[in-house]
Amino acid sequence: MPSEFTVRTHSQEEFIDITNLVREALTSSNVQKGVAVVYVPHTTAGVTINESADHSVVEDILEALRRIVPANLPYRHLEGNAPAHVKASLVGSSVSVLIERGNLLLGTWQGIFFCEFDGPRTRRVWVEVRGE
Ligand code: ZN
Repeated sequence: MPSEFTVRTHSQEEFIDITNLVREALTSSNVQKGVAVVYVPHTTAGVTINESADHSVVEDILEALRRIVPANLPYRHLEGNAPAHVKASLVGSSVSVLIERGNLLLGTWQGIFFCEFDGPRTRRVWVEVRGE
């Protein structure tokens, strides 16, 4: 079974840096070389890797997604959260990160972000670590 942790979101749309939570899952796995798959089992949330040093970058991504995915299209999904479903598909529901010497092999400025598009909610994230 993968490791699971929960993320509590506080806004309708929000990116939350989960890099350290993924690191904790990696540490408890004792894997030194391999790959970590981070998977979000939701249809209105996702996960992406981008800059963690400057938080305005993820704010810009959210703003761009709002313009790419209009709120007022004649959506057929009647739950009222169709734009959140579309945004979740655009960012995707998993990322894979290589592992070397027991560490996530991320670029200097990279972080792993949970992407909420229909919050606030309590969400789940699964991390499967494979390797030796
Ligand atoms: Zn829905």
